Amino acid sequence: MNKVPESARKPCPHDVCAESVCAMLDRVGVPKDSKWRGLILYMRSIKNYDFLDNEQKEQFQALGMEVLRARDFTEEKFREVIKANERILSAPWNRALTRTLAETAALVQEFQDTLFRHKGGVQKLESVAVDAVESGGDVERMLGTIRRGFKDMVAMIEEDAEKMVALTLTDALTAISNRRAFDEHMSRTVALSTLERRPLSLFMLDIDHFKRFNDEHGHRIGDQALVVVGAILKGFAEEMKQLEDRDIFPARYGGEEFAVTLLDVSKQEAEELADIIRRKIERYNFVIRDPDGQILAAGIKINVSIGVAELLADCPTADIAHLVDAADKALYIAKSSGRNKVCVYVKG
Ligand code: GH3
Ligand code: MG
Ligand code: MG
Repeated sequence: MNKVPESARKPCPHDVCAESVCAMLDRVGVPKDSKWRGLILYMRSIKNYDFLDNEQKEQFQALGMEVLRARDFTEEKFREVIKANERILSAPWNRALTRTLAETAALVQEFQDTLFRHKGGVQKLESVAVDAVESGGDVERMLGTIRRGFKDMVAMIEEDAEKMVALTLTDALTAISNRRAFDEHMSRTVALSTLERRPLSLFMLDIDHFKRFNDEHGHRIGDQALVVVGAILKGFAEEMKQLEDRDIFPARYGGEEFAVTLLDVSKQEAEELADIIRRKIERYNFVIRDPDGQILAAGIKINVSIGVAELLADCPTADIAHLVDAADKALYIAKSSGRNKVCVYVKG
């Protein structure tokens, strides 16, 4: 979620550089548009990076202070600082890279398994065809055997293709739909809602103080919390489908944010449904286990804030970006007015 609405943002010449920071850099004599300015801004922003632990954040802070205090913004000093602090400066990217590589390796393995399966299938098909021909029997029977072999092969390829598509649309951690699936679903649903004049609402849901939760319990437990929130959303959607034939589509939008699309649901009803979800999550007691599955602590709570908006009612045109924006703004209000609550979008 954008912490500050676009309209409330101050203009900033360096894009990532708030006016006050730029003024401070001017004051200490950091040359404009220099590598130094880029490095200092990087160090300032990187300390908020998700994957840094407290020790690394302190290292960044200390390095930033040291550079500003030295007031030596020459090329030689720049090279010296980069060389001496290479490990600190590249740590966050190494971590992110390791994580991405692990995910990619899992996908590559999946593809490799599939290819081997296909290779086996082709070999089997070949031997079926050869056996059929060598048996020297009736031509029709021979062709029947070969045709069956091809049919089996096609079925196997279709099954794998479906699996691959599902993989690209599923969030690896929570096993619910991912951002790509959300975008695809939204473009279909927005078109349907517009064409058939059916109401369409959207929730943007964000876990409250999740950074603190991670800091207190660790990222592994944080991951478990994300899995639980995903499961609660999925369970709710399935229940609504079964009991009331409702089309509710939850997805992990990114990080600790989830999006839920509700077709044929007006904003008023969506607000009630969002509050049911909020309370379900609030009531949930997290159990913290060690890597061996032993329970370390129970009764841990998390809360969520939810922003609700309805297509057309809350946006000038029927498109995904405007709807997400409106729900995001409602979420911002929920956060800034105390969290653990549901807010609907109100114009103005
Ligand atoms: P707020 O109530 O304002 O939403 O505060 P917050 O701390 O939840 O918000 P902030 O955006 O500052 O922090 C989001 C945190 O979500 C930071 C990051 O560590 C965590 N996070 C994002 N993705 C993951 C993930 O996949 N696993 C874990 N464990 N944490 C994640
Ligand atoms: Mg967030
Ligand atoms: Mg949050």
